[in-house]
Amino acid sequence: MRKPVIAIDGYSSTGKSSISKIIAEKLGLFHMDTGALYRGVTYFALTNCLNENSEINLADLFQKLDHINLEFRNFNSELVLFLNGNNVSMEIRSNAVAANVSLIACQKEVRDFLLNIQREIAQQGGVILDGRDIGTVVLPNADYKFFLTASIDERTRRRFLELQSLGIESDEQEVRENLVHRDKIDSERTVAPLRQAEDAILIDNTNLSKMETIALILSHIQDI
Ligand code: C5P
Repeated sequence: MRKPVIAIDGYSSTGKSSISKIIAEKLGLFHMDTGALYRGVTYFALTNCLNENSEINLADLFQKLDHINLEFRNFNSELVLFLNGNNVSMEIRSNAVAANVSLIACQKEVRDFLLNIQREIAQQGGVILDGRDIGTVVLPNADYKFFLTASIDERTRRRFLELQSLGIESDEQEVRENLVHRDKIDSERTVAPLRQAEDAILIDNTNLSKMETIALILSHIQDI
């Protein structure tokens, strides 16, 4: 039977990636965390394209996009992001990357560059992509689309715990401000803004556990 193409979009820290990963394992699909791609480009910019004031020089980044090779590799049974041959899975979770990623994700040049990578992988079918514009722009013909949301308090709590588990020091108030800031930039940008596709199923998981959210999503997916 043909394997489905699933799009999961939504706000930061609604659990999109960890939920998608488990659904992919259950259904035998390939999972791509597209936020990691934007984080990978941001990490590249922070290490290769800074001006004398230590700010990202966007023109320099656009010129160097061709030098960026991003791929997901299976590493200890986890799909991890490699940037130009190096495992950057820890680096892309840093506070510096989180603080700059939405600026990078607003840029049309960057989005066009990553659109090709995402569509190439998805065209094989049997994939689940999570991000912000998967159901609206990257895969408008996906078989199933979901849009996840949760209260800002709950999302702050989740991101704070995630950072703690990764050993990244953070302040709860700063985590909250970063989430609010990114949601605002992501929703208000002109290119591929964060929004629910008309045919996406809305799930508010403020009061749902990860496994309950997964069960709800699976209950909508029939032809497996
Ligand atoms: O999902 P995650 O929080 O890791 O995404 C980091 C950032 O990447 C988001 O805040 C957003 O700016 C950008 N992004 C995007 N489009 C996607 C996935 C992520 O703009 N499909």
